[in-house]
Amino acid sequence: MSTTGKVTGIVSNLVTVTVDGPVAENELCYISLGSTRLLAEVIKVNGDKASVQVFESTRGLKNGDTVEFLGKMLEATLGPGLLSGIYDGLQNNLTTMEGVFLKRGEYTEPLDRAAIWEFTPIAKPGDKVCAADWLGEVKEGWLPHKIMVPFSFKGEFTVKEVAPAGSYTVDKTIAVLTDASGEDVPVTMTQKWPVKVAIKGYVEKPRPQKIMETGVRVIDTFNPIAEGGTGFIPGPFGCGKTVLQHAIAKQGDADVIVMAACGERANEVVEIFTEFPELVDPHTGRKLMERTTIICNTSNMPVAAREASVYTAMTICEYYRAMGLKCLLLADSTSRWAQALREMSNRMEELPGQDAFPVDLSAIISNFYARAGMVKLRNGQTGAVTFIGTVSPAGGNLKEPVTESTKKAARCFYALEQNRADQKRYPAVNPIDSYSKYLEYPEIQEFLEETVAPGWVEKVLKAKNIVRRGREMADQINILGDDGVPMSYHESFWKSELVDFAFLQQDAFDNVDALCPMERQKFMLDLILGICDRSFEFANFDACRGFFKDLINTLRQMNYTEFQSPKFYEYEQQLQNQLS
Ligand code: ADP
Ligand code: MG
Repeated sequence: MSTTGKVTGIVSNLVTVTVDGPVAENELCYISLGSTRLLAEVIKVNGDKASVQVFESTRGLKNGDTVEFLGKMLEATLGPGLLSGIYDGLQNNLTTMEGVFLKRGEYTEPLDRAAIWEFTPIAKPGDKVCAADWLGEVKEGWLPHKIMVPFSFKGEFTVKEVAPAGSYTVDKTIAVLTDASGEDVPVTMTQKWPVKVAIKGYVEKPRPQKIMETGVRVIDTFNPIAEGGTGFIPGPFGCGKTVLQHAIAKQGDADVIVMAACGERANEVVEIFTEFPELVDPHTGRKLMERTTIICNTSNMPVAAREASVYTAMTICEYYRAMGLKCLLLADSTSRWAQALREMSNRMEELPGQDAFPVDLSAIISNFYARAGMVKLRNGQTGAVTFIGTVSPAGGNLKEPVTESTKKAARCFYALEQNRADQKRYPAVNPIDSYSKYLEYPEIQEFLEETVAPGWVEKVLKAKNIVRRGREMADQINILGDDGVPMSYHESFWKSELVDFAFLQQDAFDNVDALCPMERQKFMLDLILGICDRSFEFANFDACRGFFKDLINTLRQMNYTEFQSPKFYEYEQQLQNQLS
């Protein structure tokens, strides 16, 4: 007998229910509303009273309405066909329905049950297998999608049968496993997993060893993010968080991309719907959508669905990671998710933490970031989930709780600055305050020295110093006036402007400049540091400014030109002439 209950209170989408049996936190329930049923999740239990958050509008709901508890948590459906899908936080498939918005109480099937997949077996009868081990493979687009022993299986199994190579639907049994007690269990191509629980299925989670190239200079060179690493992009409204995240999504060196969009603006979600399916993958020339899953919140879904969407997105990433793939998870904006937590906590009249956020906000954020990472699978292969979230602190105040909590959890910090955005110095990442802790990891330093160039880390630190010193000089010049400082101050200032304009700034909307491979980043940084190493004897600060402005123009032209094309060489020659 499953537990049932009756509605006894409604505050927006927080509903109190008196229950007639046991219920657990995070358990799902259906609330009957006429002929429809609304899905809800238990967030707190106190004796025979449960507080549940309804994933939809509670309009029309009244005290005494009946509630049926499902005895399970919110689960994601996993299997081939997730890629190129657009879902909401409850994994309703938004591509198969009419219009952008579901009707209330309507839930759709995440996977196409009729789709045929070409299956190739990997395991053989007699093999000993555990949860997450690979039984076979289908091609999802051009990616190898592993069919695994379901993550919920405990202990060791013996493979009894594996289906021969052939065409099957996701519900067809593709293997039979025998458990320790001799019982046979069928396995299909699909499984379910509770989104709030991290998928294990790996033997080890070592520290990241490599960087994930994004083609964005201020990230890859100045503050690289590791494959399996974490980062966050805080910034006031309109400073370029979404543009930067989309650039990373388009160019990041990952097999699978999952975007969790909790839009700042209502039309942003619609933009993703229309824009993303059109994008071409610069690495393969195919549609980027073929290896992308988008989880977004439609505007008719209440706050609770935002929370569900980040967890669903993470679960999908962990699923693909267990196949030995490199996954990139992007969430924009995690502040929306935190606000949802705050609203719920306030409605429950919990003791509030700072700025009325729940007291355990920091732990919730840390636990979520901790699900990212590089993992070693049982078969020796590796997989990764790299996670980058945006944070939109009210008024750009980086001391607010969501930013502070995220700073503790994420290893890379890309602070977008209003001032830089106002000056159109895009991406508006503050070059001084931003950091990547990975740059201090010996294994990452070694990786960079091997793959980019010997002495690379030192060069990066040198470039950062030039920028830092330039800021100090700018302050001095501001206070003392152009004529009140030695010429060397002007020279230092303009050297930092050279690094800023010719290297840090990058046009996300230019076909060439948007994507700058590491080889090209190295070439440009060497060129710029070579110039900064020289000392010049300028007669006056006008001469100094004119000289550097010309250099900046030429270097920027180079950034906008195909690397090492004849035109690129022409600009390089022009630069040499300007320098001589
Ligand atoms: P946010 O998400 O922080 O509110 P957006 O990402 O929507 O801000 O960016 C706002 C605007 O800033 C964009 O529409 C674009 O005009 C400009 N912008 C941001 N980043 C860049 C960039 N790298 N190159 C060119 N323009 C940019
Ligand atoms: Mg945005």
